[in-house]
Amino acid sequence: MSKVFSPSQMSAWTQCGTLRSLRNEGWVPRRADARNFAAWVGSGVAEGLAVWNTQRAKGEEGNPCKVTAPIDEMVEVASQEVQDQMTRFLEAGGMLVEEDYLTSVKNIRPFLELATDHDPLGAWTIDCAECELGEAYGNARCDLFGKDEDGVWSVLDYKCTTNLQARWVQSRLDSELYGNQSEFYTWGMRNVREVDVARFYILLLILRPQPRVVLEYREIDLELQGQWLKSAQDQWTMMSLEDEGLRTPSRNGDHATKFGPCTFREACLYQKQDRILMQTDYIQVPRKEKKHVNQKV
Ligand code: SF4
Repeated sequence: MSKVFSPSQMSAWTQCGTLRSLRNEGWVPRRADARNFAAWVGSGVAEGLAVWNTQRAKGEEGNPCKVTAPIDEMVEVASQEVQDQMTRFLEAGGMLVEEDYLTSVKNIRPFLELATDHDPLGAWTIDCAECELGEAYGNARCDLFGKDEDGVWSVLDYKCTTNLQARWVQSRLDSELYGNQSEFYTWGMRNVREVDVARFYILLLILRPQPRVVLEYREIDLELQGQWLKSAQDQWTMMSLEDEGLRTPSRNGDHATKFGPCTFREACLYQKQDRILMQTDYIQVPRKEKKHVNQKV
């Protein structure tokens, strides 16, 4: 069997093989923007929620999770995570507008309070938070694993967005519910835990214009998952060949995403991926070693 790559690696490769390869070398634009801040806050909020969910996972099997959220501790852990990301970015030579950064950081507590004050998982049995699937599964980890209120083994992924108009909520949910991660995590957790994982959930936190917590799931169809797996294995084979230098990384000819120009357009089209020239507009940020939060697998 080919090497397995995580959903984030798969998504990056689907966007563009060259983009995945540059990202894996640690390259990022020298100037941080709102997208960077949103990603840092998102990973901070995930770490903060893991503190609470890890405590809830320690409840007895079959009992509802009634642990009071340690909100101050969660905010502290989340803020530290964002601070770490910013420090590594600045130490690598990155630049940011401090005011924009501070504005983003102010969202940490509201996100965590929204998730805890309006928690829809009170009837779940949480098994683990930040569950690591291990090296055989591309070192991927899912936000939450447990039995939902119907007693069905499920994987849940948290997403947070600062601003999302009501008319865009369903399309955002659909893009998350039917993406690679839904198949990957349910397939991986079923294999690792040897239980029937039948549902994939998205818990979407929206701060503005109206604070909202939206929980939605889809049932996993094993026949469709088999088709996904065959396609994923072909993709993993090509990704492995690229990593071993046996295949040139693919290129997305549009050099753009649905959000605008690709962040590496300067690097690819003007600097021709010359690593010296690239240092004008890009920096290399060392990868962070992930902490082991709660590993039962
Ligand atoms: S600029 Fe084009 S080729 Fe380069 S990483 Fe982006 S999409 Fe890929």
